[in-house]
Amino acid sequence: MSYQVIVIGGGPSGLMAAIAAAEQGVKTLLIDKGKKLGTKLAISGGGRCNVTNRLPEEEVIKHIPGNGRFLYSPFSVFNNYDIIDFFEGLGVALKEEDHGRMFPVSNKAKDVVNALLDQLNKLNVEVRKETPVEAIHYGEQTHKIILKSGEKLETKAVVLAAGGKAVPHTGSTGDGYAWAKKAGHTITDLFPTEVPLLSKDPFIKNKTLQGLSLKNVDVSVLNEKNKKIVTHKMDMLFTHFGLSGPAILRCSQYAVKELRKGRKSVIIEIDCLPEEQEQKLIDSLQKQMKDQSKKLFRNVVKGLVPERLLDYMIDLINISSTENAGNISNEQIRKFIYYLKHFQVNIYDSQPIEKAFVTGGGVSIKEIIPNTMQSKLMHGLYFCGEILDIHGYTGGYNITAAMVTGRVAGMHAAYESMAK
Ligand SMILES: Cc1cc2nc3c(=O)[nH]c(=O)nc-3n(C[C@H](O)[C@H](O)[C@H](O)COP(=O)(O)OP(=O)(O)OC[C@H]3O[C@@H](n4cnc5c(N)ncnc54)[C@H](O)[C@@H]3O)c2cc1C
Repeated sequence: MSYQVIVIGGGPSGLMAAIAAAEQGVKTLLIDKGKKLGTKLAISGGGRCNVTNRLPEEEVIKHIPGNGRFLYSPFSVFNNYDIIDFFEGLGVALKEEDHGRMFPVSNKAKDVVNALLDQLNKLNVEVRKETPVEAIHYGEQTHKIILKSGEKLETKAVVLAAGGKAVPHTGSTGDGYAWAKKAGHTITDLFPTEVPLLSKDPFIKNKTLQGLSLKNVDVSVLNEKNKKIVTHKMDMLFTHFGLSGPAILRCSQYAVKELRKGRKSVIIEIDCLPEEQEQKLIDSLQKQMKDQSKKLFRNVVKGLVPERLLDYMIDLINISSTENAGNISNEQIRKFIYYLKHFQVNIYDSQPIEKAFVTGGGVSIKEIIPNTMQSKLMHGLYFCGEILDIHGYTGGYNITAAMVTGRVAGMHAAYESMAK
């Protein structure tokens, strides 16, 4: 069988690429090895499908720390607002939630995926599910897609939308990297991002704080010189293996990169009271100790942070739970506040890439033409989505990058196939 465009991978990038190619009227085939299309898209945003993000383009790019700037060019063709218009045009009403995250009003992921599938159908895109691609043979004029079944398909242009390596049960097992390499592309180091972090600190091992979540705290990653590399103010969670929750996920890639430099551990520092100045807290607490000297210390500081954390901190500075405020030294108060403002956790690793939300690294963007998503090294070859060395924070940023690059890749693959 012969096609003008074959798209490999039916995630958000591949679905968008196939639609964009078929809109140009070319014979398009979409192949996926899974039973369903858009599996990862459907589980995004806690299973409600975080279609995109409504923040201004500049902000969206800032939230894509892994080569977000590459997207300026594809964004000039199709951006996050175009994604919103696209879905509303297909009858999927969207609503904005916190941090600009966009979801279907119905809260049903299947409404988003079905709208894309209906569109494929309308545009006569041939879809082959449960069809793993094994290899690609690149030719002078056309390319051959070799299926696991042994069948060979010919195409004038191929779009690689096979995703990364995160959460492989969704179908993204990293198969596409080998096909990119075969065409001469560089695959930058792959690493887990948006991933929980592991610690062997005694309080983690003892499960002292397991299950405790902190709201709106400042979480920072420290470098070797104890300088903050990055800080995110969001919620976080202590778990039985270490740290998780939104602020930790955002910081995780920086911790992973530090560990990859050969460091045995990296410090995550938590400021439990980010709105308060350290010295002001010390002064006010010292005054309270004097004014309420007959009260238990624990009762005076109650409410400052969640009780389990408070008890842990009190323990850390060797204050008995029956100690009166009047007996607490200034040095102990200083130490207590210091721990609350600089709570340090030693991280020795992250969970593996298979448990990460997103893959860091991928096909080098230096080898891709940004306004067409075409390979600079091989004719008739296009890339889109997480297979690329582009990664963002969760919050619709990765899906936006996938759909935008997919749209541009599909459109230009169609143009090239028509010119051949
Ligand atoms: C639990 C979870 C929650 C997430 N939440 C968010 C979020 O809230 N916001 C956000 O921005 N991002 C989120 N992400 C990330 C986002 O879903 C991905 O970045 C995005 O789906 C990538 O799209 P893609 O099209 O590049 O690849 P994928 O969605 O990974 O799709 C790749 C497709 O290629 C197919 N494929 C692979 N190999 C082959 C082969 N050999 N033959 C045929 N087909 C093949 C796979 O079956 C798969 O369907 C989340 C990810 C996970 C795992």
